[in-house]
Amino acid sequence: MPCRIWAIWVNCEGMQPSHTLHRLSRALWVTGLALMLSRVGTAADAPADLARRAGLHVFEGRHLTLVTDRPLRADDGLQELPQVFDQAFATWCRHYGLDPEQHASWRAFGCLMVDRERFRAAGLLPVDGMVPDFENGFCAADRFWLMDQSNPDYRRHLLLHEGVHAFTLTLRAADAPPWYTEGIAEYLATHRLEPDGNSASRFVSAPMPRRRADVEQLGRIEQLRRLHDAGQAPSLTDVFETAPDAHRALGAYAASWAAVAFLAHHPSYREAFIAAERQPLDRDFTARLRATAGWNDPAASRDFAAFLADIDYGYDFARMKIDWSRGEPLAAQTTVPVAADRGWQNSGWSLAKGENCSFAATGRVTVGQAPAGRLESSPDGITLHWYRGRPVGRLLVAQWVEPDDDGRPSFCILADGSSGEFAAKSTGPLYLKLNESPGELADNAGEFSVLLK
Ligand SMILES: [Zn+2]
Repeated sequence: MPCRIWAIWVNCEGMQPSHTLHRLSRALWVTGLALMLSRVGTAADAPADLARRAGLHVFEGRHLTLVTDRPLRADDGLQELPQVFDQAFATWCRHYGLDPEQHASWRAFGCLMVDRERFRAAGLLPVDGMVPDFENGFCAADRFWLMDQSNPDYRRHLLLHEGVHAFTLTLRAADAPPWYTEGIAEYLATHRLEPDGNSASRFVSAPMPRRRADVEQLGRIEQLRRLHDAGQAPSLTDVFETAPDAHRALGAYAASWAAVAFLAHHPSYREAFIAAERQPLDRDFTARLRATAGWNDPAASRDFAAFLADIDYGYDFARMKIDWSRGEPLAAQTTVPVAADRGWQNSGWSLAKGENCSFAATGRVTVGQAPAGRLESSPDGITLHWYRGRPVGRLLVAQWVEPDDDGRPSFCILADGSSGEFAAKSTGPLYLKLNESPGELADNAGEFSVLLK
């Protein structure tokens, strides 16, 4: 399909042109790049032919021509990249509600480069000054360039990340705010490969990765946890206001990916996000999302903060959905159930800041612990298995605390185990849950009974 736009590009180390380019007018730059790329795109001078004449390797798929100067090695997976890209293309079409058959002729042209001078000499990379001096990747309409990576998983991820840019720039005419542009590229590129039974690999979209091995070298979840532990986790507003040049840092990519994953999966925001994505992906994208009927900025910010506080592989958004209702003052003793297969559960009872409370828990639950199988736990937890510094299965009692200073809002654990006393840290409801990864709740069963007084 013909390229519809030249006026947009994405530099993955920051979405603004380099300093050199600031001296050029945007229109001049766009015209020059378009002329240069259209020259190599003529039938007589097809870019793949230019690449072959220059001694570069060319791999063709249905939706991608991949050119590289990387020496071929057994098991480096280069040959299968176009097939993986083709499978990813189908996933991207599904995400945006597009019919892949209607876009069967859509193609991207990607350059995987070790020595970018070889690509310049071949006429496949604009001369100095025409594109930003990118470090990892750059995309202009259906053309993208990326520097080779030593890790095959990371190389494949970057290729798909640039592929998402090419897809949204051409098929969705995307000119969205930076957080969405980079966040959706990270989100739709995240995957794992599984054997397809025929000695090839199958692309499996895993936008919320189930395990660390799904996203080798990305480190997004770890980065976000470090930011949270340091009290520096970004708010949803911070992410929405990400500056165009902020994506030089891993943290900005991680936060943008987290916002997209949150909006695409959280039961309270998923519909609004999908509706916004069906509208133009333009500069008003964020404003349009926030103007959706029922959207509530403070609630969305609180839910996003709660997500970042507990983020982990396989985060189960449905089971971690939080009831923020205020609850009734705890005036007498009462008993509340705590399900093993859900995240923070609102007890329905509220304390005033400083008020004392005691609790005593009984019951036994089962928690799934692959590969050890299902284990039984009391409110004290299973001392052979730990998560975030406490035994798995241990009862946690907390309140949502929004600090008066610059600190980030978060659940503050007030007590844990089978019984104890504590003082309320804020005025609001008590929350309870079992200590376990938010990605491993689904195979738990049973509930504790907790006496509060
Ligand atoms: Zn990017």
